[in-house]
Order: sequence, then structure tokens, then C-alpha cells
Amino acid sequence: MKILTDTEKLALDKYEVNEGQPHILINQELCQACSTKNCLFACPASLYSEQDGEIIVEWAGCLECGTCLAVCSNNALTWQYPEGGFGIIYRYG
Ligand code: SF4
Ligand code: SF4
Repeated sequence: MKILTDTEKLALDKYEVNEGQPHILINQELCQACSTKNCLFACPASLYSEQDGEIIVEWAGCLECGTCLAVCSNNALTWQYPEGGFGIIYRYG
């Protein structure tokens, strides 16, 4: 039996996307004043990026680990678990 790597396990996870209902909201004004930009480096799925001076999160692929909320140094994030059965469905713990 083949032992899967963490990356292979993540690829098997399933996402139910609640279109137009992001569970992570970003206060761009607070991000402008942020000197660390921790979110860009801390997300295990590399979902954060900076585009045209704004912080973007590709929330549909979120692993719901909460790391970005924990490391955000300016409290710029509003984060809640996706409602109504949306979000990630883990198949490998
Ligand atoms: S760490 Fe927080 S405040 Fe800083 S850029 Fe990222 S989301 Fe914005
Ligand atoms: S909760 Fe985790 S996976 Fe989701 S955006 Fe934040 S750091 Fe990335």
C-alpha cells in the first residue's frame, strides 16, 4: 500500500465553495499600515498575495487552520468558519 505525502493527501481534500460568501474579510486600510505582512508567508496553502498594493486571499482553497488570523499583526482579518456545510472536507485527518 502506497503511503501518501502530505501534499498528496491535501490534493484529495474536497472543497465546497459558497460562491460570493467569503469567510475571510480583509481590512485593506489596516494592511496598508502593516509592516510585517505575515499573512504572505504563514498560510500553509499560500493563499495570500499582494496585488496592486492590496492583500488578496484565495479563500475558496482555505484549509481552515486559522494561522492567518493568529499571525495577523494588525487585526485586519474578519474570519469565521464557512457556514452551512461549506468549506473543506478532510479525507485524511
Ligand atoms: S498580516 Fe494582517 S494586517 Fe498585515 S498584510 Fe497580512 S492581513 Fe494585512
Ligand atoms: S485559515 Fe489557514 S489555510 Fe486558510 S487562509 Fe488562513 S492560513 Fe491559509
